[in-house]
Amino acid sequence: MQQTLTLPASLSPTLNYVNGEFVATDKWFSNRSPVNGEVIADVSEADSALVDQAVRAARAALDGPWGAFSPAERAAILQRVADGIERRFDDFIAAEVADTGRLVEQARSLDVYRGVANFRTFADLMKVAGGETFEMRTQEGELLNYTVRKPHGVIGIISPWNLPLLLLTWKVAPALACGNCVVVKPSEETPSSATLLAEVMHEAGVPKGVFNLLHGFGPDSAGEFLTRHPLVDAITFTGESRTGEAIMKVAAEGVREVSFELGGKNAAVVFADADFEAAVNGVLKSSFTNSGQVCLCSERVFVERPIFGRFVAALKQKVESLVIGYPDEPGVGMGSLISHGHRQKVLSYFELAVQEGATVVTGGGVPSFGDARDNGAYVLPTIWTGLPDSARCNVEEVFGPVCHISPFDTEEEVVRRVNDSKYGLAASVWTTSLKRAHNVSRRLHVGIAWVNTWFTRDLRTPFGGAKLSGLGREGGRHSLDFYSEISNISIQL
Ligand code: NAD
Repeated sequence: MQQTLTLPASLSPTLNYVNGEFVATDKWFSNRSPVNGEVIADVSEADSALVDQAVRAARAALDGPWGAFSPAERAAILQRVADGIERRFDDFIAAEVADTGRLVEQARSLDVYRGVANFRTFADLMKVAGGETFEMRTQEGELLNYTVRKPHGVIGIISPWNLPLLLLTWKVAPALACGNCVVVKPSEETPSSATLLAEVMHEAGVPKGVFNLLHGFGPDSAGEFLTRHPLVDAITFTGESRTGEAIMKVAAEGVREVSFELGGKNAAVVFADADFEAAVNGVLKSSFTNSGQVCLCSERVFVERPIFGRFVAALKQKVESLVIGYPDEPGVGMGSLISHGHRQKVLSYFELAVQEGATVVTGGGVPSFGDARDNGAYVLPTIWTGLPDSARCNVEEVFGPVCHISPFDTEEEVVRRVNDSKYGLAASVWTTSLKRAHNVSRRLHVGIAWVNTWFTRDLRTPFGGAKLSGLGREGGRHSLDFYSEISNISIQL
């Protein structure tokens, strides 16, 4: 069951895409499989000269045919990009799975599916996006105000490794829909699906310079060169909160706009009146999907005391029945982590939890396979109990397949404890009381609160985090607003 660890042939080696051409520099880094540690491709690292070339190509393209495209023409091109991803659906799955070790089924039903949906959604939204009109009477007569949307110019897009295609296209699609040109820098861990996207852009007839792709790292590499480039007009970033802080300082030069989707330490709250089975399955999903490497995953689970013991036992049983293995093996419920580096970080929290006095309900180590997967980046799904809210394992984002479960007694108490975090991305609440569903969810300091579900997204709704979890909102018209410069025209009639 190892055929899904191979990349589509065109990605070996993996190149940058600048001004309509695939290009290499003389610097390379290795893309390693997290499943068995083997090198799957050499990736060309963009140097500062190539970054400069990409940004200038994007700027020039604004004055080329792209600048003259109507919103409907841009929407048509985005639909062609979506068609192109659909045509190469299996290649995208292969790329996503080979880079990340995620389950094939997840790549199919979530990652690549959403890549297509992102382009179709923003193509449709752009076609119906209107503006505002205000009329007023002055001493001179009637004044008519109306707004128009203009592109910002060149958008720098920096994305993480955890949902590579989904998160990249979530920004590329609205940025292009609004008439901008983009220079994108995917994570060094996941260069493949972004490169396939460049192939699709090329085939779809996106004019040269409109979409540019650079590979490399963050500090002192392509990421930093891109954010520092003075011809980048706005920066949109998804990743760790401390990287967001670093980028925000750089973006202050030239007072460039930023949109940030950052880290989280999300809570799930299970009330005693919840549908018990639904809540256990919901928390299983919200804590362990993608090996816990979703920014929205719940690492802090609060369960009302009367059902605490029963809940911990039921979740333990479900977690222990998750089969860990190859991405395409039938029945497998969890794949590897993204890399050995990240596994080191997760394992350091496994160790820290024990030092902090946690009870390890299940997991806490690495699985043993007796084959090549022992060279992979696997860990066991893990549940802790018994830690105070102030323990580092309850405060810091682990970003692995792990949750801590603690009991609570009152609504007031749990709202206070959920909100006692420097993060504020998401929460899920499990209850059958309608009143409680409304009362609790609206008091949580988060960008998104789910009730009796988790992760389902309507792409027209606002998405983003409070506190350290982000800045601004994307999704629906919020994306169109960020990726547009909105001007008011005021006419004396
Ligand atoms: P990261 O911050 O390490 O890296 C993200 C991207 O930033 C990569 O492409 C990296 O090369 C680049 N980068 C790093 N330092 C940079 C710098 N100084 N200048 C410019 N670019 C730089 O994040 P990660 O480890 O790839 O992703 C995991 C994190 O992302 C987690 O904290 C997770 O919660 C967060 N995340 C948030 C959301 C959200 O929507 N809020 C979604 C997904 C992931």
